[in-house]
Amino acid sequence: MSKSVDLFSEAKKFIPGGVNSPARAFKAVNNNPIFIERGKGSLIYDVDANEYIDYVGSWGPMILGYNDPIVIEALQRQLMKGTSFGAPTELETTLASMVVDAIDSIDKVRMVNSGTEATMSALRLARGYTGRDKIVKMEGCYHGHGDSLLVEAGSGLTTLGIAGSPGIPDQIANETIVVPYNDLDILENVFKNYGDEIAAVILEPVTGNMGVIAPKVGYLEGLRELTDKYGSLLIFDEVMTGFRLAYGGAQEIYCVEPDLTTLGKIIGGGLPVGAYGGKAEIMDCVAPEGGVYQAGTLSGNPLAMTAGITTLRLLQRANTYDYLEQKAEILEEGFKANIKELDIDATFSRVGSMFTIFFGPGQVKDYKSAQSSNTDAFAIYFNRMLEEGIYLPPSQFEANFISLAHNDRDLDKTIVANYKALKEVKGNILK
Ligand SMILES: *Cc1c(COP(=O)(O)O)cnc(C)c1O
Repeated sequence: MSKSVDLFSEAKKFIPGGVNSPARAFKAVNNNPIFIERGKGSLIYDVDANEYIDYVGSWGPMILGYNDPIVIEALQRQLMKGTSFGAPTELETTLASMVVDAIDSIDKVRMVNSGTEATMSALRLARGYTGRDKIVKMEGCYHGHGDSLLVEAGSGLTTLGIAGSPGIPDQIANETIVVPYNDLDILENVFKNYGDEIAAVILEPVTGNMGVIAPKVGYLEGLRELTDKYGSLLIFDEVMTGFRLAYGGAQEIYCVEPDLTTLGKIIGGGLPVGAYGGKAEIMDCVAPEGGVYQAGTLSGNPLAMTAGITTLRLLQRANTYDYLEQKAEILEEGFKANIKELDIDATFSRVGSMFTIFFGPGQVKDYKSAQSSNTDAFAIYFNRMLEEGIYLPPSQFEANFISLAHNDRDLDKTIVANYKALKEVKGNILK
């Protein structure tokens, strides 16, 4: 019996499902979660002293790798001054000004404690600013677990959303309209029917939460035009992509400016932070300047701000995103060569340092095509990678992250493991 198995049984006695966030439970890959002891650079170590090359990166934040010495030292210095005051500190202005400098579409930004809080607050602001109630989201995009956003597509011809979880009132789910990602025609129809009721369209500009899918050429521009035409706000949820795909996020790469942007993950440098920002005219509707209420006891927490500031400063070093791209290209080449040599139905999808291998034939462009992936094949792949010492997100429908700490040796080992795992998939699926 491994210590992880024991700790999981113990955790289940006191925590629902033994975890504080469902994906950690490894259910989708029919396995037990691994309990982590510590991390260093690209590596994590479990309580049984196994070492893994990690591509989860705490689900996105750890772009520098684990336990970066400069971040840790900054945190230690702040720790000695105090962990929380609930009063303004200069650190909040420093991080806010860094976000405003990084992202052209943001004039002002409010710090919160998670990505969920950022998107919930951005929706309230969009509704308060426009005086409209309906929200449009894309099928398969994840924006945290707020009621309005934990909504699935209705069946048949209805576009009004249905609750994505027990506990979400139908009246709230019905205010969210769900459309396919990468499809402007369906969205245009929705606008024709509901245009003057739609407060905002929210999406992951590059998706990570149904696996990595890039926007089609002209898609984001089309969203910008449609929302402008109907007086709705465009919200880019860059909780995952912000400071990940480029320092200025997906909007820097695709040159489309949203009205509001939500951030999280990397701006917290591994501590709990979210943020939402945008045009001053809209952001000034937030209390105490305006009437849209939003608050937080620990918002702008000095330790969290310190981790964020230090992480962003380190990302500002020369060539950061070129280095990430080079590492990602090495993995892409290696994985694609393996897929080709083994003649396996799998698609490697990547944008910058985010990637997913979809086990299925053909290009993945939206939720429906992502869902056609073979999750049994993924489970075999995942478990074999784990045996080979490679720690991946435990679901087909997630993004893998490459960090600045991954070195050539890590990448080579990963490519070799990938070959063995794909071969095992092939052997099992053909049986
Ligand atoms: C992770 C994520 C969220 C939720 O952030 P939490 O900090 O987990 O609440 C929201 N949107 C996107 C795009 C995310 O990737």
